[in-house]
Parts: sequence; C-alpha cells; structure tokens
Amino acid sequence: MSEIVYLNGEFMPLENARVSVLDRGFIFGDGVYEVIPVYSRHPFRLTEHLARLRRSLEAIRLEAPLADAEWIRLVHQIIERNAPEDQAVYLQVTRGVARRDHAFPKGVAPTVFMMSGPLSTPSRELVEKGASAVTATDFRWLRCDVKVTSLLANCLMRQRSVDSGADEVVMFRDGYLTEASSSNVFAVKEGVLLAPPKNHLVLPGITYDVVLELAAASKVPVEVREIGEDEVRGADELWLTSSSKEVLAVTTLDGRPVGDGKPGPVFKVIHGAFQEFKRRIMRQAA
Ligand code: PLP
Repeated sequence: MSEIVYLNGEFMPLENARVSVLDRGFIFGDGVYEVIPVYSRHPFRLTEHLARLRRSLEAIRLEAPLADAEWIRLVHQIIERNAPEDQAVYLQVTRGVARRDHAFPKGVAPTVFMMSGPLSTPSRELVEKGASAVTATDFRWLRCDVKVTSLLANCLMRQRSVDSGADEVVMFRDGYLTEASSSNVFAVKEGVLLAPPKNHLVLPGITYDVVLELAAASKVPVEVREIGEDEVRGADELWLTSSSKEVLAVTTLDGRPVGDGKPGPVFKVIHGAFQEFKRRIMRQAA
C-alpha cells in the first residue's frame, strides 16, 4: 500500500502531491503544523493537538481553513488510508500561493496538507539505556510557543547533536533551560520533578501536559519554574518528552553522566505510567 496524503481537498499517493514553488510555505516558511501520534489507529490527544493548531493559526493571523469537526474527519480518513497501525499524522497549513511579497496576500486560499507515516517511538534498548544530549545556547526567535514550519534554527540545533554523535540538544537562554530541538525537557532533583514554565520560549508540548498529569496521579512532587543551567548540569535525572519520543531519559549530557548515568527511579515511574495510560486509552477506544 503506497503512502496516501491529503492536499487541498483530495487524497492521493504521495508521489502525485504537488505544490507551487510560489507557496508561501516554500518561500517564507509561512505556515504552521502539528504532529499527532496514532496508537493502534487511534489518534492520541487529538482535541489538544487541534486546540494547539488553532492557537498557532491565530498567532500567525491565518484564518482556520477547516472547523475542528472537519479536521477530525480528515485525520481519521488519513489513518484509514495508510497501512501502519501506529502512525504519526503530520498536518500543515500555509498562507497559500501568491507572488513573493512579505505582506500577507489578500483573497488567497491556504494550502492544507496532511501525510501519515509509521510512528517510530524509542526502542526498548534506548528506553533502558537512555539518550545522549549536548547543550547549546538557544538562538531561536521569541515565539517558540507557536508551532511554525520555519524550523531552520531547530534544524541547525539538531544537526549539532548529529555532528557530536548525540541524540538531542538541550538549550539554555540567558542561563535558563528552555527545551530541546524537537522535545520538551524535564529535570529531577531529590525526587522533585522540575518543569520549565510554558511561556513564549518553549513549545507547549502535548506530552508535557500528559507527563504533568501522570506526575500528579503518581504523587510525584512537581515544581513548574525556571531551571538554571547549573541545576540542569547537577540534576539527578533529565528527560525528553515529545509525541514520538514519549518520555525518554537523557543519561549523558555533553559526554558526562546525568546522575548515575542510568534512567532514574522517577523516570521509571512516569515512563511506566505513560505506557499504562496509552494502553488504557486504547482499550477504551476499542
Ligand atoms: N518542543 C519542540 C521544539 C518540538 O518540536 C516538540 C515536538 O515536536 C515538542 C517540544 C514536544 O511537543 P509534543 O509533546 O506536542 O510532541
């Protein structure tokens, strides 16, 4: 079964999907996107992903091209038309096709694109061993809370980790932890889960919220506050969270062990709770 995508009202094989070179997504990176994880053909936290999409569209002053009910229908259709049981649905809206001009074009239809590939979550080996990360100064713009397609700074960051043979980049701005190139970051010190606040410097992760809910349910004490670079370097545990990484321990930072260099006890509680939470939701949906 070939990969089926959705473009401006039609489903088609990926090879047939074409967009004009004048699309503002191509010319300016003028668009927003979402990635929705799908387990056993059930989209995870779809309402929350669509709410974030609405906020992203509002932030870039682009009128929502579809109502939530229509997005929900399309997401289910693209899942049905693609083979994997576990998928990552990617959806993108750009400001459409127009002659190149920074100012917004008038009367132009947005480009709506969706694709879905296999969801690749961390292997058991990676979960048990933990990931590696390097650190960097966060030089992205001041609206990191908006999920925009202009991800050049994130790509440059991610490539730094590739160049150093690491899995991710943990970023600091003005001496405080922000996030990673495509994940949120949590720290643990003396049993307390530390989470950077959701502000303009970080993406409000859907998984971040799930982790805070699971921490509350598991009676793990939480502090949502700014976390200094020293605290990160001296943390007992560090985690990455995202729709594809779920919850993943970072066990080396800049080549040095985090805590004792193994995924820690609080990670094990929340990782276990996350897997159980997924199973429960899937059972309810079945
Ligand atoms: N932060 C950044 C920069 C991201 O790109 C992502 C996801 O891609 C996240 C955090 C995690 O967000 P979510 O949990 O909604 O996948």
